Amino acid sequence: MPALASQCEVCRQWGGSALCADCVARFAAPVPRCGRCGLRLALPAAACGACLRDPPPFEHTVCVADYGFPWDALIAAFKFRGRPELAAVLAGRLRAAVDVSAAPPPQCLLPVPLAPARLAERGYNQAWELARRLGRMLGVPAEAQLLWRPADSVHQAGLGRAERQRNMVDAFMVDPRRRGELAGRRVALVDDVMTTGATARAAATALLRGGAAAVDLWVVARTPDD
Ligand SMILES: [Zn+2]
Ligand SMILES: [Zn+2]
Repeated sequence: MPALASQCEVCRQWGGSALCADCVARFAAPVPRCGRCGLRLALPAAACGACLRDPPPFEHTVCVADYGFPWDALIAAFKFRGRPELAAVLAGRLRAAVDVSAAPPPQCLLPVPLAPARLAERGYNQAWELARRLGRMLGVPAEAQLLWRPADSVHQAGLGRAERQRNMVDAFMVDPRRRGELAGRRVALVDDVMTTGATARAAATALLRGGAAAVDLWVVARTPDD
């Protein structure tokens, strides 16, 4: 990592970090959210209307910000152009959001896995780059191989929401040799972006089926409307 890379990625101010204090205050300030799915609300609530009607398999969602400026550009640079220093910045912001959240501490951090073809193409899993840094920061073990994503299921394009959700359910599985490591434990699933939530729901469902006691979701950014 270049030790002198101290220009803010967003406002170009020279300082001590790839995201300066002014930009953190402006773009990463906590806002009221649904404690369960992270949806931005007028007032904080343990669960929004959608979560009351159809509770997701995760108990708490922690997110830094809504997906939009400047997070879209930062995440794209991190995801598609490598940029390890951005992984550190994003993991740091996520850690700060975890610190002020009501989510109980997990016993293990698990990245949402990429399908093998995507992993081969990108060369790294951005969720793992976040999870392993968070694990170091928080002193919690991070496990890249416990949750599997065997292969892309049926092509999702052109399918309706319900069909996509059905397809997703079998997209993840717990390594059958390692179920004992999961049994009875609270885990946090880590990802860069939560869009529809379908991926997070499928991964969390697989973890609960695999024996996890509870699953939380930690994401850098969440699309404002699920
Ligand atoms: Zn800045
Ligand atoms: Zn909700």
